[in-house]
Amino acid sequence: MLKVCHLYPDLLNLYGDRGNVIAFMQRCRWRNIPVECVEVNVGEPVDFNDIDFLFLGGGSDREQNLMAADLLERKNSLKEAIDQGLVVLAICGGYQMMGQYYLTFEGQKIPGLGILDLYTKAGDERLIGNVIVEMKIETETVKIVGFENHSGQTFIGNLDPLGKVLAGYGNNGQDGLEGARYKNVFCSYLHGPLLPKNSKLTDILIKLSLERRGIKQELLPLEDYFEDQAVSVMVDRYIKK
Ligand code: GLN
Repeated sequence: MLKVCHLYPDLLNLYGDRGNVIAFMQRCRWRNIPVECVEVNVGEPVDFNDIDFLFLGGGSDREQNLMAADLLERKNSLKEAIDQGLVVLAICGGYQMMGQYYLTFEGQKIPGLGILDLYTKAGDERLIGNVIVEMKIETETVKIVGFENHSGQTFIGNLDPLGKVLAGYGNNGQDGLEGARYKNVFCSYLHGPLLPKNSKLTDILIKLSLERRGIKQELLPLEDYFEDQAVSVMVDRYIKK
């Protein structure tokens, strides 16, 4: 049984980010992989050792402020689980919270977990639009697509990015990088939601989650006609002119 945790579903769920959890679970079910999800809100207990896949979505600055203190209390147990292979997908506000801090436009410093070597500063212009990223998944180079809307500009330190920006802004609109990767933690600015459109990314998260359970297996291929179309329509629109 794979165990999914959606952390702060009531606060961090911008632009249908919850769809990431639905896509992860549905692609498990289509393969007869048993899976269940626990939703954990501020003040509610969770044992990350017991979780295989943790999802943190995006939220406004206000919502980030509301969950920041609660998240910081969970820092040690979360870091330990990450070191032991917990698979995490953190989007936008959730991504920013994995780093050192988020400095808002008003100059307020919202502390982050500091688990990933990155920081975020709000810029004076929101970075909004469709994004195409080139990303390496195992030995394959794939394009992933999504939608971004953030004022935060993230700068990663000694970390791999999730991928290279082919269209859109990504982490900060300056260095051509999007997202961050650390152990089994995947961070991205891409909403959409991200996973329903990008089946290869979903599948690598499922595969890593199974590995955390000690199960090493190739996943049964699924019919991905609509998922592949979702990517190729955007690639045709933004790249092959
Ligand atoms: N509050 C953050 C920002 O604007 C995150 C926004 C989001 O999660 N979409 O940068």
